[in-house]
Amino acid sequence: MGQKFMKSDAKRVISLPDNAKAWAEEIGPSESDNYLAHTIKLLERRIFKIQNKPYLILTQKYTERQGSWLEEYPSARLISMERNHCTIFFPPGKEYGDKHARLFIAHELGHIAYHITHEGSMDGLKSSSEERDETEELFAWEFAFHLLSEKSAYYEKVQNEKVQNENNPYIIKDSDLVSNIKNFMAELHKDSNELIEKLERKLDQ
Ligand SMILES: [Zn+2]
Repeated sequence: MGQKFMKSDAKRVISLPDNAKAWAEEIGPSESDNYLAHTIKLLERRIFKIQNKPYLILTQKYTERQGSWLEEYPSARLISMERNHCTIFFPPGKEYGDKHARLFIAHELGHIAYHITHEGSMDGLKSSSEERDETEELFAWEFAFHLLSEKSAYYEKVQNEKVQNENNPYIIKDSDLVSNIKNFMAELHKDSNELIEKLERKLDQ
């Protein structure tokens, strides 16, 4: 089963964008399916510091090809067959909604957090289908609750700030972006005028 997923990953590599704008357009709006991406990144960093080797936590929606899983397990599944990564498969948002997808993923991340704390290594991480002890299962649900509660409070705060404060860091006008980049380039590069002109020409295209 692991091999099948690797094959589909390889296919994606072939269709990689070949210029800066196409790259940005492809990966810029990708937050939608990458639920809890910030949390995942932080967990990966913790694992890296503990194990002194990289570890990836991948998330992937069930596809139709894996439909039988979806019927059998209407939640996320954690698959861990390799020592350097695990994959959390989760049901498509349209079936269960983004909130459920996030909750399922948060629960599986709880298992990962448990391993960081209790084992100090990801080597013994089991897949969802294997027997887990009750302490770990409870930890995972408790983690899911606190994580999503924390995130909800954060987003609520940001939302309120957006209404009250027009200075929202997530929204930058193109003209402001260009002038900021030009200022940084002038500070950072020798011969910056030439470089800035080249960039302006590229952005005008
Ligand atoms: Zn569980």
